[in-house]
Amino acid sequence: MRSNSIKCSGGGRRDIKVQLEGRALDVLRLLRIHIYAASTQIPCPMCGSRGVGVSFNVREHQNRYYCTICTPRGGSLVDLVIALGYAGNFHGAVTFLREKLELEN
Ligand SMILES: [Zn+2]
Repeated sequence: MRSNSIKCSGGGRRDIKVQLEGRALDVLRLLRIHIYAASTQIPCPMCGSRGVGVSFNVREHQNRYYCTICTPRGGSLVDLVIALGYAGNFHGAVTFLREKLELEN
């Protein structure tokens, strides 16, 4: 029985979460989002904060983003990679982040 090549399901989420600790600003730069998002609200890169001007921010110590207009109204930085179209699913987003931020696989 072969047991190789089955490694991208389960378990990955906790690993990437740990790997991204302290890297929120690097993720913002990578996604071309102004790092002001970590200290105040800025125009949302997904919805453009239509009608209210600013609605988007990132909580650096939680590694989560929030937008008062988008649905859903937030998620992890991995979710943000997907929401911005840099990857089509969780696994793709993790691969993207690991490659661009030079994290271990
Ligand atoms: Zn939004």
